[in-house]
Amino acid sequence: MDFISTRDEQETSSLLAIIKGIADSGGLFVPEKFPELTIDEIVSFKDMPYYSVCAKVINKYIDELTEKEIEDITMTAYSGFDTKEVAPLVKLDENKFILELWHGKTLAFKDMALSVLPSLLAIAKKKKGNSNKTFVLVATSGDTGKAALSGFMDAPMIDICVFYPNEGVSKLQELQMVTQEGKNTHVIAVNGNFDECQTGVKKIFADSKFKKLLNDKGYELSSANSINFGRLVPQIVYYINSYAKLVKNGDIAKGEMINIAVPTGNFGNILAAYYAKRMGLPVKKLICASNANNVLTDFFKSGNYSLDRKFYKTISPSMDILISSNLERLLYEITGRDKETVSKWMIELKDKKGYSISEKLNQLNEFYAGWVDEEGTRKTIKETFDKYNYLIDTHTAVAVKVYNDYIRETGDKTKTIIASTANPYKFVFDVLNIFTDEKFSDEDVFGAVNRLNEITGAKIPKNIAELEGKKILHTKTVEKNEMQQAVLDIIK
Ligand SMILES: *Cc1c(COP(=O)(O)O)cnc(C)c1O
Repeated sequence: MDFISTRDEQETSSLLAIIKGIADSGGLFVPEKFPELTIDEIVSFKDMPYYSVCAKVINKYIDELTEKEIEDITMTAYSGFDTKEVAPLVKLDENKFILELWHGKTLAFKDMALSVLPSLLAIAKKKKGNSNKTFVLVATSGDTGKAALSGFMDAPMIDICVFYPNEGVSKLQELQMVTQEGKNTHVIAVNGNFDECQTGVKKIFADSKFKKLLNDKGYELSSANSINFGRLVPQIVYYINSYAKLVKNGDIAKGEMINIAVPTGNFGNILAAYYAKRMGLPVKKLICASNANNVLTDFFKSGNYSLDRKFYKTISPSMDILISSNLERLLYEITGRDKETVSKWMIELKDKKGYSISEKLNQLNEFYAGWVDEEGTRKTIKETFDKYNYLIDTHTAVAVKVYNDYIRETGDKTKTIIASTANPYKFVFDVLNIFTDEKFSDEDVFGAVNRLNEITGAKIPKNIAELEGKKILHTKTVEKNEMQQAVLDIIK
């Protein structure tokens, strides 16, 4: 299948779209059309192992690879997960199913895609006869960085550099990153927030002089952020797989509608659910849940996307984002694939800090959007634990609460999958704080981990326990305007 840009005429193959990451104009690559899945095909996935479902679904987009090649990649990628199911569903009650997306190495849903992307990139380069070194640039709100570092560690011909907002990530997120081993990994704190990190990275990508300089040194830039289609496509799989498993378990009938609720930041995860729907998955509502950085809630309610607002640091830091990059792919669809209009809005976003889709608002009816403040997030974690004896993290709680609000508003009884995006231990201070007033210092993060385990009985993941005593290997901090220089320093 060919891929096209959301902003201009550029057209490319699926593998080249993955190698490039982003179109030359700054547009995002999207498939020329949505591949289709019949309901019988979807249901036929119910007895397959996860990696085989991956092969079937991903092959619809990336037909330059065979199902067998994709299956080999995904089988290896997910073999590092701590459950064979890869993305298990936990039934909380008749209507509510938690989709646990954090069974990979770094304990957040980013592993679902970033365990796969390095091998996809490697095979893409091989097939395309591309022997350049790749420089992977990542801006992270906390979870992408570690998942990318872990996925790309010691990959041949690849260097990876992660920029994270200094003081914008959780203690354990930071520890995971700064203890990263591997000769090709670089981790740098930026004095700024996530949006500023992301803008800095996008600037580097758009700088053709800088790109030429890198090329002269035998490098080309690539992105592991969710703007890369190679990130998006593995995320489509788990929604489809979940549906098949719900049918298998008798929780829904074949063809029955479901809802999907997603705690949202950069709009990647929920966009994958939208893609699944467009492929034929019977989805009624896509529930977009935000924290206090509720730019998307306002957008879905009013049609106005406005950056003229305060940025909040919350207890769900991976969603502390005001510029949700992947929304561009949805805009492209709701305008009937009108690249001029999308370009215009994206320019307005940059120059005027916002845009309005006004008359297109009715195209968004399949979405429901809501947001939760910090108190509501905390209360939801406590209530969910008390009611179901099930511990959720601060991000998942945002989705659970917005889903509960949706039910209260609509009375909708449709079975709903709620994406659980991180293991609660990753945000141990804020989760523990809900259950006890006891104070733990940053240095005593593992004391907090053990205490949370005593109180809730939730299992401590091996990868958290193993962090204790690891050496800190990355200590560099730069200003926002020094990011490009930092990349140059690495290449030299
Ligand atoms: C990245 C992340 C999100 C937001 O996902 P998007 O695809 O950026 O919308 C939510 N929760 C956690 C734990 C994350 O790491």
